[in-house]
Amino acid sequence: MAVTKEQVLAALEAVNTPQGLPLAEAGVLSDIVASDGKVFFSINVDAAEAQAWEPVRAKADAAVRQIAGVTTTLVALTAERKPGGSQRQGVQPAGAPRSTHQHSHASASGRPAPIRGVAAVIAVASGKGGVGKSTTALNLALGLRDLGLRVGLLDADIYGPSVPRLIGVQERPELDGEKRMIPIARFGLAIMSIGFLVSDDMPMIWRGPMIMSAITQMLREVAWGKLDVLVIDLPPGTGDAQLTLSQQAPINGAVIVSTPQDLALMDARRGVMMFRQVNIPVLGLIENMSYFQCPDCGTRSDIFGHGGARIEAERLGVPFLGEVPLDLEIRANSDQGTPVVESMPDSAHAKIYRELAGRVKDALEPVAASA
Ligand code: ADP
Repeated sequence: MAVTKEQVLAALEAVNTPQGLPLAEAGVLSDIVASDGKVFFSINVDAAEAQAWEPVRAKADAAVRQIAGVTTTLVALTAERKPGGSQRQGVQPAGAPRSTHQHSHASASGRPAPIRGVAAVIAVASGKGGVGKSTTALNLALGLRDLGLRVGLLDADIYGPSVPRLIGVQERPELDGEKRMIPIARFGLAIMSIGFLVSDDMPMIWRGPMIMSAITQMLREVAWGKLDVLVIDLPPGTGDAQLTLSQQAPINGAVIVSTPQDLALMDARRGVMMFRQVNIPVLGLIENMSYFQCPDCGTRSDIFGHGGARIEAERLGVPFLGEVPLDLEIRANSDQGTPVVESMPDSAHAKIYRELAGRVKDALEPVAASA
């Protein structure tokens, strides 16, 4: 039986604001989305009062979970940022839309609080879509696993979460005793994706700031267990969503994926600038679809003008991590849910990803230690 918005509102009658008003009448609720057992909404409050609201949020979440037929809930606390108010690390890229929401998970130092059990977090980003960011993030995570690390992967690509497809899993996460979502265990990785929760027909509004705030909550309300590193697959681009996520997750370092073309590199440059603005070290640039190796004759051709990312990395003063060829096996495996590092561990491609993982691990150690 489908859960309705009315049922959600009825369940919320038991929840009051810190001032004692019924929550549903306080004018702080976003639109409530109830779809297929999943319920999402946010409570919009003044940033200064966020702490007082956290128990309200938790209570609202618990109340909604009691409704028969509800399988997943995401109740996020969002805070209007006052125009002209100070921002945590102070910066917006020129021309970027102003962020209207922020989350309340900062530690006393103003940096985002660490995630329980997670030693280090890296973000995999790209200046634009379609450059192979998700494929790279997943194979990189598997490469890190092969180095003996305990690895998690969070697919935060709100515009098109592709990790469920790339791992061949479309399951709804279960909840643990503390009502935290249990990540999907696949290939020895702990995996969460916004795609496990949100179907493609979700209203567009959910692909904006609200989903973003849901993701920052997904970072923390997931039973990650003990992880050496959590890899976050960021949405492509360098706009508001990416900036907010970068500011709200305790990211130790970022990896930027680009193809060799000029245009993609220009976008990658914006990515580097964005991370610099929020004081996140750029661990390096990866050139994906760097060159094409003919599977039959072995001849190599540089269809996109190979080498651009290396030159760009030098120009920007960030490390160049390596090149991944444009390869049919990488594509086919990726699209079948059997990433190449897992399905062809002895292949040249798997070796390339493991080498990239080694460089990422080396670059991460000093920055994680200093954090
Ligand atoms: P993004 O996350 O940047 O949008 P994806 O990882 O979803 O990109 O990749 C887009 C498409 O490109 C997918 O079909 C994927 O299989 C393919 N792809 C990614 N990297 C490679 C590669 N090195 N060689 C061949 N195909 C690739």
